[in-house]
This record gives sequence, structure tokens and C-alpha cells, in this order.
Amino acid sequence: MVYATRRFEFSAAHRYWRDDWSAEENERVFGPGARPYGHGHNYTLDVTVTGTLDPRTGMVMNMTDLKALVNTILDAFDHRHLNEDTPYFRDILPTTENIVRVLWRLIAAHLPAEARLARLRLYEMQDLWAEYDGSDETTFARAYTFSAAHRLHAPALSDAENRAIYGKCNNPNGHGHNYTLEVSVCGPLDPETGMAIDMVTMDQTVRAVLDALDFRHLDNEIAAFATMPSTAENIVVYLWEQLEPRLGGRLAHLKLWETRKNVFEYAGPARLPA
Ligand SMILES: [Zn+2]
Ligand SMILES: [Zn+2]
Repeated sequence: MVYATRRFEFSAAHRYWRDDWSAEENERVFGPGARPYGHGHNYTLDVTVTGTLDPRTGMVMNMTDLKALVNTILDAFDHRHLNEDTPYFRDILPTTENIVRVLWRLIAAHLPAEARLARLRLYEMQDLWAEYDGSDETTFARAYTFSAAHRLHAPALSDAENRAIYGKCNNPNGHGHNYTLEVSVCGPLDPETGMAIDMVTMDQTVRAVLDALDFRHLDNEIAAFATMPSTAENIVVYLWEQLEPRLGGRLAHLKLWETRKNVFEYAGPARLPA
């Protein structure tokens, strides 16, 4: 299968508020998203289509047609207040998860017969996005940062072997990074909040795990790295083990940037077929 993606942008305001909840409950669940006049974002939408390649044109579908079709739909979203100016968010909240599902319905209904919508990813901000593939579950992801010192040194290897394998990273006094961790959760949406996970709880949970590492020396101050090398591979698995039991079975994927150039991903231990 060939997958073709085109990127779109629109700017819109929205507000998270349920009339049937008290002001305190709205503020607890939605934070500043509950403020009375709303706020706004530059949204980025990646539309991915798939299908059989047309043998004459060599295309899944004409990208010019896709551009026109999606832009016509986004016209009703761009420079609008999603709650007030579109008909889609009267009964559901304009969360990133709900917006991506509404856009799925609208785009899928207008695609030509030869193309099939494979995936939509909607960025509300650079570090917050939702992804949908037409199934019952929706993915929601958010990126967090922490800064820490570490030294790559394996206790099972000799000093000479450590120097040979890890090079500069074996410097005895350590060095450090600004780490970025993208946490993806996946599940059915809560019908009341339109979210795959309570985002305030998610932030508090992830922050608590990362705050334990933030502005620390991993090898010297975090027990897990006293005995295993603090490679990004080991860190991403460690973070999975910390987060998985705390996120109510919703954790789907972790992506850890050690630097802008080194990225490590983990989606949990491989589940063997029963
Ligand atoms: Zn927002
Ligand atoms: Zn390093």
C-alpha cells in the first residue's frame, strides 16, 4: 500500500465548558481551557490517504483534488470560533480528539471512490496532537521536557571497554541533555469530556515521574541507573515502566529525544501470542 500525506493549516478559537457542570468542576477538568471567552490555536492537519495506484497517473489520488476538497471543508473552521461558528460542537466539546474525528467524517464523505482515508493527525500545538484512523479509539499525545546529567558506563564492562564503546559519553564526571518525551495514550473518548484521557491528570502523572529525574544526575541519584547504563534506550523503557501502571491502561507509545538528532521509541514489551 502507498500512503500519501498532505499538510493543511487553519486557525480557530475554542472553549472547553459543560453547562451541566459547576464552574469548579469545569476548571478542575479543563484548566484554563474553561475561561469564558475561549482561546485559540494554529492547527496543523496531516491528511493521509491510501488506495490502489492508478496505472496511468501513478497516483493514489490527485493531490490537487485532495487540497481543494480539504480546504473547502476547513474553510468553515478557519478563523472561526469552533463552539459558536460551526454546527459540530453543540453536543460535544471541541477537543483535539473530537475535532480530528469530525474532520475524519467530513473528509471521508467527500473522497473519490479510488481513495481511502488512512489517518488524520491534528496538531493543536507543536507538542500536542490527536490521531484518528476511523476505529473506536483515538490517540492523544503530548510532549514534556526534562533536563538531566548522566554518564554512559556499564558496570559489567571494564573501564577500557567502557571508554571504547561509549567514547565521550563515558566522561567520568558526566554530561547532560535536554530530554523531550512524547507520551501517546489511546482509547475510546470519554463522552462527557471528549478526551482519551483526563489531560490535567495526565500532565500531573507524567510531570511527577519526570520531575523525579529533572535537574538530577541519573546515574548518581536514580536507583534504577546505579546498575544499568543510562542509555536513552534504558531510560525510555524505565519511563514506560513508571508511566504504564499510572495511566490506567491507556499508554500506547513513548518517544524520547535525547538530542534533536537521537530519537528512541518504545511501545511496551512485545506481547506474545497466547
Ligand atoms: Zn485549546
Ligand atoms: Zn548523553
